[in-house]
Amino acid sequence: MTDRPADKVSAAADKDDAQQVNDSDRTDGDAQKVEEQAPAVSPDTASASGDVQPDETASADAHVHVPGIRELPLVALRETVIFPEMIVPLQVGRDKSVAALNAAVASGGPIALVTQREAEREEIEDPSELYTVGTLAKIAQVVQLQDGTVRAIVQGQSRLRVVGFAQTSPYIVVKVEEIADVTPDGIEIQALMRTVQAQIEQYVANGAPVPPEAAVAARNISEPGLLADMVAYSPDLSTEQRMELLETTDVVERLKIVSTFLGRQIEILELKGKIQSEVKSEMDKTQREYILREQLKAIQRELGEDDPQMAEINELRDKVEQAGMPEEVKTRALKEIDRMSRIPSASPEVGVIRTYVDWLIALPWNVSTTDNLDIKSAAVILDEDHYGLEKIKERILEYLAVRSLAETLRSPILAFVGPPGVGKTSLGKSIARAMGRKFVRMSLGGIHDEAEIRGHRRTYIGALPGRIIQNVKQGGSNNPVFMLDEVDKIGMDFRGDPSSALLEVLDPEQNNTFQDNYLEVPFDLTKVLFITTANLLDPIPAPLRDRMEVIQLPGYTETEKIEIGKRFLIPKQMKNHGLSAKTIEITDEAMVDLVRSYTHEAGVRNLEREIANVMRKVARAVAEGRKRKTVVDCKKLAEYLGPQRFEYGELESEDQIGAATGLVVTEVGGDVIAIEVTLMEGKEDFILTGQLGEVMRESARAGLSWIRAHASQLGIKREVFERNTLHIHVPAGGIPKDGPSAGITMTLAMVSAFTGIPVRKDVAMTGEITLRGRVLPIGGLKSKILAAHLSGAKMIILPKKNEKDLRDIPEEIRKQMKLVLVENMEQVLDTALRRKPTPLVAEPTKTTEGGNEPARDPESETRVRPTFPPPVGQPPAMARTEPRLMEWPVE
Ligand code: ADP
Repeated sequence: MTDRPADKVSAAADKDDAQQVNDSDRTDGDAQKVEEQAPAVSPDTASASGDVQPDETASADAHVHVPGIRELPLVALRETVIFPEMIVPLQVGRDKSVAALNAAVASGGPIALVTQREAEREEIEDPSELYTVGTLAKIAQVVQLQDGTVRAIVQGQSRLRVVGFAQTSPYIVVKVEEIADVTPDGIEIQALMRTVQAQIEQYVANGAPVPPEAAVAARNISEPGLLADMVAYSPDLSTEQRMELLETTDVVERLKIVSTFLGRQIEILELKGKIQSEVKSEMDKTQREYILREQLKAIQRELGEDDPQMAEINELRDKVEQAGMPEEVKTRALKEIDRMSRIPSASPEVGVIRTYVDWLIALPWNVSTTDNLDIKSAAVILDEDHYGLEKIKERILEYLAVRSLAETLRSPILAFVGPPGVGKTSLGKSIARAMGRKFVRMSLGGIHDEAEIRGHRRTYIGALPGRIIQNVKQGGSNNPVFMLDEVDKIGMDFRGDPSSALLEVLDPEQNNTFQDNYLEVPFDLTKVLFITTANLLDPIPAPLRDRMEVIQLPGYTETEKIEIGKRFLIPKQMKNHGLSAKTIEITDEAMVDLVRSYTHEAGVRNLEREIANVMRKVARAVAEGRKRKTVVDCKKLAEYLGPQRFEYGELESEDQIGAATGLVVTEVGGDVIAIEVTLMEGKEDFILTGQLGEVMRESARAGLSWIRAHASQLGIKREVFERNTLHIHVPAGGIPKDGPSAGITMTLAMVSAFTGIPVRKDVAMTGEITLRGRVLPIGGLKSKILAAHLSGAKMIILPKKNEKDLRDIPEEIRKQMKLVLVENMEQVLDTALRRKPTPLVAEPTKTTEGGNEPARDPESETRVRPTFPPPVGQPPAMARTEPRLMEWPVE
């Protein structure tokens, strides 16, 4: 053994301190080797198991005086506990410890290693300062270091108990007795061992701070005490816990302590693992995204592509700079872009901001078309596009003239009011064309929600600007001709009042800073030329109407329609259908037929449709190979369009009792309505049926009261009123929308029913009646006259007060119809009844049961007389004047 080569361990230390090292050659840093050579040092501890025979050990020790008690040099340990079989390097610095080590080395005997109770204590003077149980160890190697300390490698041999001190200087010699493990046989200890082995495995598997081989080593240990001691290697044990293990000689007990400790550590490790994996998975996710994003960037850099978001942001910035926005808007847009650059590109917010900025960029902040304010060329364009409408064209040209002279003038909004198909939209388009402006159009029909006009706030998902801004954008200039259709159909409900939003749009005082909810920045609408259209004037909210310059387009006469058809609609539809004058011709007679028998309207929309219908048929024939020109005459027309749809002149063919023809204005223009009255037995005053508004009910009541007040003049006995119920019926058809205008018609029909005198079949009338029989003026005169003309009436009764409106009536109608202007109901009766009623002159004081009513109505007499003194020879009962028949021209 002595010839065994000294080897590699601490080569430097070997060289320097060779003489310090134990005289034997057994210097070896390798624990295993030390163990192997142990027998050479102390034959008494030959068994590696540390199974020491006390007496044998005693024989090897010079200090032994008492059998079983040995005296050994002591090295007191600080916070270290050494177990049997443990091979540990010791760094020894205290003088007494160094001396003790040297003494042991010199004697070649073992050493006592006992942990001191207080780690900080320098000097050990009394056994009580040490734990009572320590370890007997042999020294495998000693190296003297230059700083005076000694490094030794020791191997635990067995447990010992400190009995007392034999000497304290120059080093401590302790009296010890060795203690052996108490290891009972049996299955309990086997079971405990297996448990602990399994626990160690799990402990290691769960990531215990011990080398992984520990589990294998544990499996191979067959000695129960040793297995328990092995756990002391775990750094998780405190000094106290280690001491407890060392002091426990009952192996069963020791295994139990170890098992409890391991169980607890396993739990801690499991919990720790769980917490860690949770934290880790969370971190992994963000880290993964981060890494991927970084990789993406790297790839894009490699490919020479910039960060797309940055590229987009830069592009947006450039666009904002070029959009010519007002300063305020530009600041806003740039701020939004900044905000966008700070948000991760995957965030939905980016899209929202992007859309918003796109809107700001797309709006024509400073894009204007140059106005053509040449009035002459404008007049040419208007004439090119429209037949007739002289007054309207004139009015439009005046409007343009004013604008050309005072560009900044805040002119009122034009409102075209009239039935469908009279050319409102096409006039708007012509104005745009004449001025060289863009044309945009928006229908207000059925808009209930203010947000439709003003947009939704950006906080709403999918919010967009209102339709005003949308249309301006679409038009692409900040000065388009903007047509707002159907202002009379605007609604109002809980979603807000669109008309008030519209007011802001149309009001020149406010619309320079029109605020859209979505845009959040004002847009200047002052350059926009707004034109509104409506079918009826009445339903337009008053504040809106107030700001409008109303231009009425009541409809066309038959001749006008024929002319429009020939000059505009036929050429237009020919072009649309790919036909030419070589392939089709519509005769004049067929044109008249088209207007009279296939359409029935104020405008020309249906006429256009029917013409298109004819063109379609011809186009098909041409497509099928027809070479000759198709001449569409009345016969062909019937072939193409089927039997005539409307009968020209819908008035009654004979005089009627209890029926009169009234004139009303509806959404589709003027219309004639037949009012029917019949008398039947009954107690009620009257019944009203049909499509009647509240105003018409009241007119009927006023008319009846007038008749009762003038019963005797009209030759109606008062019993008639008492015994009979009057039923007034207005057959469906056009629903009057223009308020009061049928009062005289209803009264006339009632008088006819009461007196049995027929009404002239060819008379149509309009006018409201007061309780005292005066006839009040009405609106929509031209529409009504056109409708009366269309229906074949020969005479029209009109309120005198409407005389001024007659200027607008076309010449052709004036020639064909007789217009009678009336001031009171008597004149109406005189004109429309076939004969005059015979008054009940003979019964001046006749009273009915209990009644004392005078036969004549003093009130009406006193009222009527001064105004219309009855001509000499006329019955005095009924005041009357000759109705004034109009002589044409009116002027
Ligand atoms: P509105 O807007 O009043 O309902 P449109 O402007 O749409 O009516 O007119 C319907 C059609 O009738 C259009 O094709 C239009 O060109 C034509 N039209 C209406 N009035 C005239 C007119 N006076 N001269 C020529 N064409 C007309």
